Amino acid sequence: MNDTMLYDTMLYDATTDDIARVLAGQPAYRVKQVWQALYEQLRAPGDITNLPVAARNDLATALPESLLWKTESTDATGDTVKFLWNLREGGHPIETVLMLYPDRATVCVSTQAGCAMACGFCATGQAGFNRHLTSGEIVEQVVKAARRAREIGRRVSNIVFMGMGEPLANEAATRSAVERIHDDIGISARHLTVSTVGIIPGIRQLAEWPLPVNLAVSLHAARDELRNELVPINKRYPLNDLVAACNDYLIERRRRVSFEWALIDRVNDTQRDANELARLCKRLRPNAHVNLIPLNPTPGWPTRGSSPQRVREFADTLTGLGVNATVRRNRGTDIDAACGQLAAGQTITPVRFGRADD
Ligand code: SAH
Repeated sequence: MNDTMLYDTMLYDATTDDIARVLAGQPAYRVKQVWQALYEQLRAPGDITNLPVAARNDLATALPESLLWKTESTDATGDTVKFLWNLREGGHPIETVLMLYPDRATVCVSTQAGCAMACGFCATGQAGFNRHLTSGEIVEQVVKAARRAREIGRRVSNIVFMGMGEPLANEAATRSAVERIHDDIGISARHLTVSTVGIIPGIRQLAEWPLPVNLAVSLHAARDELRNELVPINKRYPLNDLVAACNDYLIERRRRVSFEWALIDRVNDTQRDANELARLCKRLRPNAHVNLIPLNPTPGWPTRGSSPQRVREFADTLTGLGVNATVRRNRGTDIDAACGQLAAGQTITPVRFGRADD
């Protein structure tokens, strides 16, 4: 997948054939045993105790894990945990977030080390792009976060592809990660959500995937002039075409399409923005759901998030216009684990981006 790979295969990129090759000489049932241990029982390779020690060692040597644990931080409420890893291949830092809710546990995974989309208000975008993750590197985040959840008696039920990177710029790896998470870890497609900045060819590909996942689109502006500025890829994939692609997805897959909207003080939280967003939402049948989130602070973006009062008013305006809107609770801001804050400790030059009317 990556030309520069030093290892042939990482553990969670390995197929059953790869495992069979490593376990050559062992009885055939061992392959299934290892597979179930890895994905159903979420065991670390060293903990597959029903496998002979020599075989365990062979496995660990030939098929290493990819994510090297760096740190783990828990927010003040104790219900958001952020993991920082270094990739074995290349050493790049990436982050994963585990979010515990009363009724579910969600893992937010990264799909790239960094991001090339350059949205100015997003810490990942500010830090730039390193490389795509492999499917196994995405899956390993789920496995490791799920192991952590199990230690505190919780089962991971939902996966959101909303960490670092643009999933649909790394479509093949994201698709095979989705398949493994579904087929082998056992999480249903309705509990998987792929979030995109709005890569239209990627949304078209998503519509062809075997599994109908939920689609989230990071909208943030409902007129091209403003969206071009906030989300630069909009110049290539403008709103009219984006909404058409979302509508087709919704019709073909019968899955929820939601729009993410980070509320930026007096930039996209005005009556005009609410009207434009409502008009856009109504082009989808059934209407798209809007997730509102006050902009989280990042080092490279000077404008503040909207005040709680403006957030409430924006939400009420949308509701009044017949749009289904939810205000999302901000999780993990104190540990830089919230939306748009994942930079994996990389240096960001402060205030590189700004708006004239700040
Ligand atoms: N690249 C994909 C996946 C990342 S999801 C995408 O753009 O959808 C991360 C979400 O957090 C996106 O909706 C992104 O626009 C949003 N986000 C980025 N920076 C943010 C910030 N500072 N505050 C709140 N949300 C932010």
